[in-house]
Parts: sequence; C-alpha cells; structure tokens
Amino acid sequence: MNKKKPSQKTDDIYASKDLATPLAKYQFPNHQHKAEIIFSAIKDELLLDGNSRQNLATFCQTWVDEESRELMNLSIDKNIIDKDEYPQTAEIETRCVHLLADLWHSPSPTETLGCSTIGSSEAAMLGGLALKWQWRKKREKLKKTTSKPNLICGPVQVCWHKFAKYFDVELREIPLEKNRLLMTPEEVCKRIDENTIGVVPTLGVTFTCQYEPVLEVHEALDTYEKKHGLNIPMHIDAASGGFLAPFCAPTLQWDFRLPRVKSINASGHKFGLAPLGVGWVVWREVKDLPPDLIFRVNYLGGDMPTFALNFSRPGGQVITQYYNFLHLGREGYREIHDRCYETASYLSKSIANMGPFKIIYGSDKEKGIPALTWTLKNEKSMSGYTLFDLADRLRNRGWQVPAYSMPAHREDLVVQRILVRHGVSRDLAELLILDISRTLKYFQEHSKPVAKPVHRTVAFNHS
Ligand SMILES: *Cc1c(COP(=O)(O)O)cnc(C)c1O
Repeated sequence: MNKKKPSQKTDDIYASKDLATPLAKYQFPNHQHKAEIIFSAIKDELLLDGNSRQNLATFCQTWVDEESRELMNLSIDKNIIDKDEYPQTAEIETRCVHLLADLWHSPSPTETLGCSTIGSSEAAMLGGLALKWQWRKKREKLKKTTSKPNLICGPVQVCWHKFAKYFDVELREIPLEKNRLLMTPEEVCKRIDENTIGVVPTLGVTFTCQYEPVLEVHEALDTYEKKHGLNIPMHIDAASGGFLAPFCAPTLQWDFRLPRVKSINASGHKFGLAPLGVGWVVWREVKDLPPDLIFRVNYLGGDMPTFALNFSRPGGQVITQYYNFLHLGREGYREIHDRCYETASYLSKSIANMGPFKIIYGSDKEKGIPALTWTLKNEKSMSGYTLFDLADRLRNRGWQVPAYSMPAHREDLVVQRILVRHGVSRDLAELLILDISRTLKYFQEHSKPVAKPVHRTVAFNHS
C-alpha cells in the first residue's frame, strides 16, 4: 500500500478497492487479493446460475443431505486412483460393485468385475469397448476381418455417438417412425450382421423417458441366433433405470437375469442419489471383461489393476454412494422413488387436464422413469404459442422445463419434459402446475388475431 494515500478504514468487503473493478476475465492477475473478498465476489457471480432444485430438465441429483456433505468434505483430498494410499476407499468402491452386481442379478456377484466412473458416459464407453474387444477376439479366431464393427441402438444419449466416433464403431441407430419412438425387436434384427458387436437398449430413453423393450429384444436375438448362427451380446444403458427398476419394478426382466446382457451402466448421480460425479459399469461375469483392457501400474506403490479412461479423480462420490446404499437399502430407494412416480403421475394428469397438451409418456413404473413428456395436441390451432414459448415463460419463475425436438426421423415432433427427482415434492409440483396455468392464461390474453401469421411470429418472439 502507498502510505501517502489514505488507506481504507472499514473492513467491509464491498467497500474494498478490490471490488471496485470487475473480476479478471482475460488477463491473468499479477497481484494477490484477499481470500474472503474474492470468495464473496465469486459467490455473488454464482447467484446468476439457475436454482438447481427448480431444474426439472436434469436427471441428476440436486438434493444433498447433511451426512453426504460431511462425507464429501472428509474425502476432498482422496484420489480414487491411489488405491495404495487410500485402500479403504478402494475397498468401498469394490463393495459398491458387488452390491450392484447383486442388485442387477449377476450369476456371480461376489467375483464379477466393474468399476466406478465419473458418470454413465464413461461407463457406457467402457461397456462398448469390452463389446468391441470381445467381437474382435471372436473374429480373429475365425480369421475374418475386424475393420468394420457396428453397434445397434434406439434413440440414444449423446455418449453413444461419442463412443462410436472416438472408438471407430459404426452406430446403427434405429430412426424413429411415426408413433414408434423406441427400438423394436424387428428393427434391431434388420440391422444385425457378422460385424455387430452388440445391441444397446436404453432403460430410460433421454427423449421420452421410456424403457426400451429389453426382454423382447433379447428373445428376438435368441430366435435370430437359431436361424443365422450369430450370437449377439447386449449392453444395457441403464443410466436412470438401473437405480429405479430394481426397486420399483422388481419383476421387470432387463438385467443379468437375461444371459445376453454382458454389461450394464448406470449413473450413481442420477437415481442412485449420490452427489454429482459418479457412474458405474458392471460386467455379468469376470469372463465378460477382456483382460487386455485392464492396465496394471505400480508407480503409486502396490499393484493396481485399472480399467478407466481417467486417472486421478475424486473419491468422495463413491464413498457417499456407499453411504446411500447402506443408509437407504432397497426399502429406502423404493419409498423415495415411489413418491417421485406418484408426483410425476399427478403432474401428468394435471397437464393432460389443461386441454392443449397430449401426454406421450406419463410416469409408469413398469415402462419408464418418474417423469412425463408431452406435446401440443394441435400446434396450428393454438393461440399462437409453441412449447418453446411455454418453456421460456416458465423460466421467469425459475422453472426449467425444457422443450426440444425429437431425433431422426421425427425432428418435426416437439416435446416438453419434466423429471421428478428426489426433492421434487408434491407441493412444488402443485406450484409448478399453477405457474403453467397462469402462463396459458397469459398466452390467451396476449394472443393476437391469427389473421397474419408473419406478425404473430414477431409478436410472440419476446413472450
Ligand atoms: C444421463 C445419461 C447418460 C450420460 O450419463 P452421465 O452420467 O451424465 O455421464 C447416458 N445415457 C443415458 C440414457 C442417460 O440418461
């Protein structure tokens, strides 16, 4: 400080010189600033983020209990790759894999392999890689070419597009057609050939929230094998469903009860109720994970087999996931998710009753996740608004209720979606319904005569 200039007397953060200018955006700062001042300024910037609890677009956890916060705090310094330094964290990860293998009916849950990941994206890629390796081994034995692997799926999450591109696999994604918004056994079988590394049904499709028909596809693959001699394995993308179906639809056959299902991925941070940053992939049996995908390193001390795309990564999410498993058990997960299904059903009925909307999927434990998707009954006869306008106006009250168009070949179909997660209570749902009703009333009151469609578009751009 320059002694000639009067120095600041008050210790008020907002009177400080450091906050008299905006925070650095382009140039790396030369000088130091007090921690508490910078902390306050950054905390204030975060006010501009949305309120996560009102984000009904995300599948991910936004409600965290005190115990989870404490466990995350205790493990902030734990690097999960460092299994020699943190053997208990490594042990907890292994326990979680076995508990999941048991939950998903592996024939050998105490021996089989699996690992935690950052989320389902990475878990899906590891599952896909194992399928590719197994296929290649089979082809090499037959002395056949291994240059053109393909994978068959329905309308998938973007992680499978990434997998296909990053790891050079042709994605045979079944296009949607009219009212068929999921994969069907017939459409899968049409696309199989000797280069098919596997079929990936999704348990909780991103766009409609429905489960794809795993059992039916499985049976079709049995018939296909009898006819054509090709044994096609399956990986299940159960990002959401993997933590829902076992509790809320226990008789639904989608997991390792079906022998073609060789691996499953799920997001711990979605309906697994863990904090953001954990996914899981588990193989049916040890033999389903090709050993040459496992790397062994010893430079952190000890011998550490790893199968992952990352190296260093935080351990707290896995520890907290274990806490969720033990704290809630099957009973707790069922009760929490059942309430979500009930709230989603309430929302679905209320939205259907409003008049202009047609429900595509409305929260059915056997058929999908606790969510709902709808569309406008008749886009042209409405008082001029679209679902994008509705989404936009709901943002004024903090609600995030996304509208989006479906993938190929139904890009013409615009839908809107609500995810009901832990913490989206019946009370909040009712407040949202009131806000939707208010918005519809607003649209009615502000609708222009539909005579000149060009002007109408302009008039509603700012609504
Ligand atoms: C969310 C999701 C993913 C990606 O999972 P992350 O945990 O966000 O990486 C993949 N597939 C499906 C079906 C999903 O819902």
